[in-house]
Amino acid sequence: MHKKTWKEVLNLISLELTYQEYNTWINQIQYESSNEKQITLSVASKLVKDIVTERYLKIITDKTKELCGKNVKIILEVKPTTNRSKVKSTQNPAKSTDSDPRHTMFNAKYIFEKFVVGDSNDLAAAAAKKIAEYPGKYWNPFFVYGGVGLGKTHLLHAIGHTVIDKYPEKKILYITGESFMNDYITSIQKGTMNSFRLKYRNADLLLIDDVHSIQGKEGTMEELFHTFNTVYAAKKQMVFTSDRPPKELKKLEDRLRSRFEWGLTADIQPPNFEMRESILREKVQEESYEVQDNVIRYIAENFSWNIRELESALYKLFAYHDLVNEEITIELAKRALKDMISVRSVDDISIDLIQKKVANFYNISYSDMKSKKRSKNIALPRQIAMFISRQLTEFSTTEIGNEFGGKDHSTVIHAISRIGKKYEEEESFRTKMERLISEIKENH
Ligand code: ADP
Ligand code: MG
Repeated sequence: MHKKTWKEVLNLISLELTYQEYNTWINQIQYESSNEKQITLSVASKLVKDIVTERYLKIITDKTKELCGKNVKIILEVKPTTNRSKVKSTQNPAKSTDSDPRHTMFNAKYIFEKFVVGDSNDLAAAAAKKIAEYPGKYWNPFFVYGGVGLGKTHLLHAIGHTVIDKYPEKKILYITGESFMNDYITSIQKGTMNSFRLKYRNADLLLIDDVHSIQGKEGTMEELFHTFNTVYAAKKQMVFTSDRPPKELKKLEDRLRSRFEWGLTADIQPPNFEMRESILREKVQEESYEVQDNVIRYIAENFSWNIRELESALYKLFAYHDLVNEEITIELAKRALKDMISVRSVDDISIDLIQKKVANFYNISYSDMKSKKRSKNIALPRQIAMFISRQLTEFSTTEIGNEFGGKDHSTVIHAISRIGKKYEEEESFRTKMERLISEIKENH
């Protein structure tokens, strides 16, 4: 057994663990030496040794046996070192474009090494990674959905970069749903449908971003349906992203929707507080600024809906700091982000608008929002509208109560805490809320 064999063992293990588990634990294991009968590995601390032994020794032993065709003893030592530890993003600079020119199809920063993985996205990230390593082998299609600015495009590009490096011979096609549609329309006008079809149907890896935008576009849906069938039959990998799950793509043809569900569907949720902090730390490190913990916390607390917004708050703070040349403190952050924070909360989003949007979303009438009806199908959307009103406006609970047909402020408080709890606890509900809220923000 050689070091190379160990690398292969690692590969096999990575297929069975989540990306997060693999990165956290298996990545810490160092190869030391080996002979016919045994392999010696090391980790940096007793704690890691205990965890690896308890959780992963079996899989390591099994996979080694699988690969070597016989039992090999695994010895795990503790060997403290200083420069060990997880792969840091700084050691993996953005993709340089002087390698394969096709990397320029994708954002150089959207690589797996810069993608922070946490509870809200671990399935999507792990699956994307496997697909990038073995396109066409696992799930077809891979369908990722989630709200705006949560990392869908980042993952899609990361798959692209990886496949370019690992399989330079593969034909990769990356396109947004909208460009696919435009390309289709142009091809009809110019009479170049044959080459259009050839192009898409011959892809080894077809990446379509924001596929939800072709909903209701008859010709485009039909064309994608046939493209799908051809690519699928050829066992070539397809990955789609969308702002909602297939079953909620209401204006999509049934046959296309059902095909989207043939493979693996994974969602990306808004990040929780800890994850927002890690993402900020990651970006701070990347840009080599010094930012105190309380400033990170301040931004993580105030920008909770999506990662793009979180990032732009941080970049705005950097820009402000460079401009005024003052140390980055919480006061500076408050000053720099004043506009962004007030725009988000004071904005002139009205309770009225929220009521209309929520009523529409839940298919109840606007007047039900202000009624006294207590049936569940009306009470829930009403409570949701109260919750969102509290999130997006500056009105007090008493004022909000007034707008809902003169409800008492304690009723509003109850609604907020009930919906808040549901939001924390139920992932699918959180996705829905996130989408609803971004719709309200976008459309006002
Ligand atoms: P979407 O396509 O879902 O709207 P993007 O992929 O464009 O979102 O992500 C928005 C921004 O947030 C990008 O700059 C991206 O790099 C960053 N981002 C999203 N998710 C993560 C993550 N898990 N770790 C680090 N950065 C992220
Ligand atoms: Mg996107």
